[in-house]
Amino acid sequence: TGTLYIVATPIGNLEDMTFRAVRILQEVDLIAAEDTRHSRKLLSHFGITTTLTSYYDHNQSLKGERILATLRDGKQVALISDAGTPCISDPGYQLVRDALVEGIKVAPIPGACAAITALSVAGLPTDSFTFAGFPPNKEGKRRSFLAGLLNAHGTLVLYEAPHRLTETLTDIADILGDRQVVVTRELTKLYEECLRGTAREVREQAREGRERGEMVILIAPADENTQALEGPSPEEQLRAALLKGHTVK
Ligand code: SAM
Repeated sequence: TGTLYIVATPIGNLEDMTFRAVRILQEVDLIAAEDTRHSRKLLSHFGITTTLTSYYDHNQSLKGERILATLRDGKQVALISDAGTPCISDPGYQLVRDALVEGIKVAPIPGACAAITALSVAGLPTDSFTFAGFPPNKEGKRRSFLAGLLNAHGTLVLYEAPHRLTETLTDIADILGDRQVVVTRELTKLYEECLRGTAREVREQAREGRERGEMVILIAPADENTQALEGPSPEEQLRAALLKGHTVK
């Protein structure tokens, strides 16, 4: 049988494509993509001419079966999604499971992932974190989803659509408490930025025309007295100076 490659692609900046991803996508017999039109642009940018087929949420069982048949034939198949790592809030999990059940080899070709990229610059604890994907769209379900995360370990990492950012920040403040939050927007793209503050403060910043683009929400752990990232407060500066034995004017 062939190998199923799970290939990460950039989350914005095309320079984040790896050499290995380009080579594997060139060498395989078939590429299964979430949106073939979207992926064709990426592939043509790198001069990749491999045959493309679609594999997305609503055709998973039919397409999955055909992809498995291709693998059984001894052909190599790569799975990509619109951005980042397949299977991470993207289709692919079922295909990976089905391939493994049949004894087909599944190989990762790692690269960008928005959750990990966001964590790496958020300035919130990274030793332990809980990735919970997209919160539900409806307010009631979203609030109970957040309540279920009250005792989650470490920094909480969520994906969210731009038009729901302010509602979700309100629910975070109400349910999890007005914790320190970081919203990373448009990572690796031209207008990349991080909004930092308490959930309510960040909501106000977001209301100033920053409810656009792709975003990851990171929430400081409940037990962590994570200090604000704007630098030490006057009281903290005084305390630090006193501890060092300096006098403060
Ligand atoms: N599989 C992808 C990954 O590995 O990150 C995630 C796919 S999920 C359908 C899309 C969500 O990822 C967006 O709604 C946003 O929350 C996040 N995302 C993707 N690209 C991003 C970027 N450049 N900046 C910030 N968030 C991004």
